[in-house]
Amino acid sequence: MKRVIIIRYSEIFLKGKNRGFFERAFETNLRRALEGFDAELVKQIGRYLVQNFNEDELEEIVEKLKKVFGLHTLSVAYETNSDLQSIFETAKLFCRAEGTFKVESHRGDKQYPLTSVEISRTLGGMLLEYGKGKLKVDVHDPDFRIQVDIREHGRALVFGEFIEGANGMPVGTAGKGLLLLSGGIDSPVAGHMMAKRGMNVECLHFHSYPYTNMQAKEKVVDLAKILSEYTCGTTLYTVKVTHIQESIHEKCKPQYMVTLLRRFMYRIAERQALRIKAQCLITGESLGQVASQTIEGMTSSNSVVEKLPVLRPLVGFDKNEIIERSVKMGAYETSILPFEDCCTVFLPDFPAIRPKLEDILREEAKLDVEGLIAEAFESIEKIEI
Ligand code: ATP
Ligand code: MG
Repeated sequence: MKRVIIIRYSEIFLKGKNRGFFERAFETNLRRALEGFDAELVKQIGRYLVQNFNEDELEEIVEKLKKVFGLHTLSVAYETNSDLQSIFETAKLFCRAEGTFKVESHRGDKQYPLTSVEISRTLGGMLLEYGKGKLKVDVHDPDFRIQVDIREHGRALVFGEFIEGANGMPVGTAGKGLLLLSGGIDSPVAGHMMAKRGMNVECLHFHSYPYTNMQAKEKVVDLAKILSEYTCGTTLYTVKVTHIQESIHEKCKPQYMVTLLRRFMYRIAERQALRIKAQCLITGESLGQVASQTIEGMTSSNSVVEKLPVLRPLVGFDKNEIIERSVKMGAYETSILPFEDCCTVFLPDFPAIRPKLEDILREEAKLDVEGLIAEAFESIEKIEI
């Protein structure tokens, strides 16, 4: 008896004429998740099977597969001979000591001597006898289910539960976005959400070395790694903005530090996005969360982006909701490590909360915007994750 993983995909992307496109992306991503494991992926009608893997690695494989967007549910099944006695012996492995159950059967092999109703009924009877009065059948709301799937060549799959997958759309089916990835809680969650809609996500991080240290950079690399398990790999670009902060600090009123820096970050981000053919910027902004995330603050940074939309998937979320998602995707523990982000360097005591555009433009006119941006691009580093 060997174990097999059954993968079912989300129904949504099966509709319409793009089916082949979605399926190919999904399959590529499954293969990528299985890289490094000795496992075979087989396509069947409407589902995939993973087989011939090392059973010691089962849990690890399941964890990887659960991060593939587009995957609706999966089940770990035993493959056995398709005679009823073998099926019964296997079904016992999924049987609880007491409670109500239901057998559900499916016949992939139409030559099989019993119909699916007959299989369920006969196996149900055998399990009732085996349960010695402690098991009962309930076809409407059973405590547990036993699933039987008759395959060709005298084989059958038997399993119990359906494990929930990541759902969403396969990454690679909805274009590419450039995520502004800080070391905080929010931006990795924002990237995760766009990947769930099928978007390829690459990352851009701004640092203020030597004011921010190497550990701060490592933390961002770690966050990009965590995100990359959902995005089927990613590229992280890092850009130094120290000289920009120094120039603002030297020439402009301190309360505009954050706003002005943000405008530089968005300008650099858009140019980098266009270079790598990304079609939008993604940020972790949430309305009202901090001083720079008022609608006025967003308007001010948004107005320097000329060609691309800025997606803010968290804009209407409470911090608690974001934290919940961060924990669920496995980023939280890393996000809360206490290393400084570039925005906390030169932080004024009283940042302008509702900055007026005319004031910002007056302050910005004191700076060599193009020269500072060009210098920032000289520092760009590319890290394949
Ligand atoms: P996060 O938890 O994502 O850091 P935050 O709550 O700290 O967000 P801000 O610091 O105001 O909020 O940042 C808002 C958004 O701007 C971030 O979600 C991120 O997309 C972008 N951002 C901020 N700092 C950086 C940075 N150093 N590098 C890249 N992007 C950044
Ligand atoms: Mg931050």
